Amino acid sequence: MSRDPWQRRTERAKELARQYPFAAEILRFYGEVVRFQKDLYHRLEGSPGRKHSPKPQVAGPPELGLLLARFRPFLSVVQAHGPAQLAQAARQLDAGSGDSHTQLLNAFWDHMGTADAPPGPEQFFARAFLEPYAEFVRSRSDLHWDGYTQSICPFCGRQPGLGVLRPLGDGGQRSLVCSFCAAEWQFRRIVCASCGEQDHRKLPVYTADELPHVRVECCDTCKRYLKTVDLTKNGLADPVVDEIAAVPLDLWAQERGYTKLQPNLMQL
Ligand SMILES: [Zn+2]
Ligand SMILES: [Zn+2]
Repeated sequence: MSRDPWQRRTERAKELARQYPFAAEILRFYGEVVRFQKDLYHRLEGSPGRKHSPKPQVAGPPELGLLLARFRPFLSVVQAHGPAQLAQAARQLDAGSGDSHTQLLNAFWDHMGTADAPPGPEQFFARAFLEPYAEFVRSRSDLHWDGYTQSICPFCGRQPGLGVLRPLGDGGQRSLVCSFCAAEWQFRRIVCASCGEQDHRKLPVYTADELPHVRVECCDTCKRYLKTVDLTKNGLADPVVDEIAAVPLDLWAQERGYTKLQPNLMQL
């Protein structure tokens, strides 16, 4: 297994697309997106930054010029591989000005720490494109969050997108993963990540035979849910990719009146 998380996600998406016909289409498109994200992340890592360029061309973070130059190539990826509605939205954005792109990206970035925006095509473009940058900025911060007990991301203030159970002793240690910057932090196992409910009778957990390592964790108090990838049952799983692949569980939970805490990148 590759140590580069982007490469790991690419490989896992390919593997699961073969394994799960019900998620093949979504995973093939996600695979193209993550390939672009990987390339962007490595370009950011290799960028010289402001200290080597005495006259920055644009205001803002030193990587802004590099980022903006990659937005149109990203739109091309979506036009070539995305579902019809997103491909059409990408064409429209591509016809727009560079200023409108800057505005879209800034608006999404500035949303950090406040309530999350409703999902939609524009949100998809900003989120998918900026995720590598958010991970890049986070990897350069020396923030430590030992003892942190909240359910929102300690780095960027957004909602968790999924949970993970990692092997610990005879059981599993639960953590939450940020829906944007992919930070992971420990979180108590029997607590709703949305409303804080702690009564286990109100926190039902469901699994399905075809995906025994993915749990749907629901809350009957606030009617929210999130999916948790159980690495004690499948050590080969990649939490982000396996969460996306488990489409039938989202449909199942939503049919029963539960709303997801935060949709994943594929808007599910
Ligand atoms: Zn975050
Ligand atoms: Zn709740």
